Amino acid sequence: MLPICNICAKTKTLCASCEKKLKNEEISDLDVKISEMMYDFGKGEFGFEKAVDVGNFVVILTQKEDIGKIIGPGGENLRKIEEALGKLTKVMGASSAEEMIYTLISPANIASTSKLYRADGTVMRKITINKNDADKLKMDIHSIKKIVSNLVHADVEIILG
Ligand SMILES: [Zn+2]
Repeated sequence: MLPICNICAKTKTLCASCEKKLKNEEISDLDVKISEMMYDFGKGEFGFEKAVDVGNFVVILTQKEDIGKIIGPGGENLRKIEEALGKLTKVMGASSAEEMIYTLISPANIASTSKLYRADGTVMRKITINKNDADKLKMDIHSIKKIVSNLVHADVEIILG
């Protein structure tokens, strides 16, 4: 599955439904751009959930079994994506949002997680990373926070504790 429909990825023109998703910020221009490239690589055989620009690099979130296909033979596809975006790109896979959070944070350990339900019905997630593990993180906390909040569609607070 791609963030946009296969026909849109193939024709590089958004249908009314994909256009609406883009307008409502359910998907981003980056998702659209990568979807179009991904369709060229795999003809719809594999896809991704979401792409997040974290500043100095881009993370493509996908199902575990699709990681290798996205990267392509000898890293060919990934190289093309990086050239098109002009940024380093990491492909990360997990079968659920929860697993993705652990993948992003590992090998550092999560000390605790909690959910805070606000009066307006929105949810705030709080993830506490073991402070002794700070130097084990593969990326800075700000980047992790951005990826996780995109993934779970909720505000996320990540702290060392
Ligand atoms: Zn569409």
